[in-house]
Amino acid sequence: MAEYKTPVLIIGSGPAGYTAGIYTARAGLKPIIVSGEQIGGQLTITNLVENYPGFPDPILGTKLMEDMRQQAQNLGVEIINDKIVEIDFKNHPYECSSENHNLFSGQTIIIATGASARWLGLENETKYRGFGISVCATCDGIFFKNKNVAVIGGGNTAAEEALFLSNYADFVTIIHRRDSLRADKSLQEKIRRNHKIAIEWNSVVEDIIGKENPLEVTGLKIKNVKTDQTKILSVNGVFIAIGHHPNTEIFKGILNMDEQGYIITKHDSTQTNIPGIFAAGDVQSPRFRQAIVAAGSGCIAALEAEAYLLEQKFKYQNL
Ligand code: NDP
Repeated sequence: MAEYKTPVLIIGSGPAGYTAGIYTARAGLKPIIVSGEQIGGQLTITNLVENYPGFPDPILGTKLMEDMRQQAQNLGVEIINDKIVEIDFKNHPYECSSENHNLFSGQTIIIATGASARWLGLENETKYRGFGISVCATCDGIFFKNKNVAVIGGGNTAAEEALFLSNYADFVTIIHRRDSLRADKSLQEKIRRNHKIAIEWNSVVEDIIGKENPLEVTGLKIKNVKTDQTKILSVNGVFIAIGHHPNTEIFKGILNMDEQGYIITKHDSTQTNIPGIFAAGDVQSPRFRQAIVAAGSGCIAALEAEAYLLEQKFKYQNL
């Protein structure tokens, strides 16, 4: 058990957290990042990244995040591999305690705990993650040029992913557990008109089939829940789009959130309803879910935290 005090405590180690660390360290604010369970965040479960600017060749998601971590550390960010499990934002400085019984106190807090994709819970889903199984068509769609892919889900994300994938893939099959999509009508209409997309209604995925050495998805076993009939769908890529959930459990009842649990911040800002507490990245914005957007949001949070601390210092000097 140890006690840490810092002007800027950053919770989360995805692109938002590391960027907030890089900026606040360069501002001389000695930030501490508490990494959370999934060190490096969601990019560590994708394979190649080729839409993050600055890398002419595709880079492994894990490598990109290791490099961000190294960059943050080189600039003086202290990174603790631990998970915040309890917070006390009633008094200032704000306090947090961790799974490993460490205590953290921060004059400002930047929450960058991200969101997690929902998974189907199938055994092979974990095995083929990054090798045919993805939760982000924008990130991984291009790797399925001229191949058959499936999208699981019936919401706006599934619809948008299917439409996006139809630009690359030979054919896209949406697999949806009911007989109607929940996606907006305009998206449904676009899907209906797209000859490269078909829908398997009332169907659930029972298993993911693939090869070893190299790991590669080759198909899906799907079951029609109305007829109980099963069949094999031949696909090389599977995009799971059954929703995300923000990692905000510990902030419930303390920070303002929308009905899905995403933290609400002021317009054009990362400021939450508590002064000096900022939220950046996917935890605050479910709309775009891109690493570059999260990094930008982390930068804004860092600049706002710095401005807040300056204002506080000014206030204290004038007491
Ligand atoms: P949603 O929760 O809207 O949809 C999830 C879909 O996955 C539903 O069709 C649901 O089925 C299905 N599903 C959930 N769990 C399972 C499961 N275990 N097995 C099989 N299917 C499952 O999530 P989205 O990510 O699509 O959207 C999240 C939010 O973001 C929404 O508010 C959406 O409108 C918004 N969004 C808006 C966009 C836009 O405006 N352009 C783009 C993308 C998202 P069922 O329908 O039966 O419940």
